[in-house]
Amino acid sequence: MKISGWIFIIIGAVVAITAYFIPHLRFFFYVGSAIAAYGLAKVIFNFIFKEDRTQQNSMNYEQLAAKELQESRCRRCKNIVRRFDNFCSYCGMRLR
Ligand SMILES: [Zn+2]
Repeated sequence: MKISGWIFIIIGAVVAITAYFIPHLRFFFYVGSAIAAYGLAKVIFNFIFKEDRTQQNSMNYEQLAAKELQESRCRRCKNIVRRFDNFCSYCGMRLR
């Protein structure tokens, strides 16, 4: 997937550069530029997508942590308390 983006950039650049030096081929210069831009967008998109995946992994980890926090409830008032709190913030019950 990542390689195809670079291929678009190379083909687009070759077409644009070739057309740039040939008179009356301005149209192909723009087409080549567009192909190169598309390839660049593809590469950037893949990069962002890859970044998103790692962020999603860390988010899942945070969600797991949040779930773990939610499972921690006060024994007296049953309100959700932070796992590492010594006292319940609702009723003041000692948690540990
Ligand atoms: Zn409580």
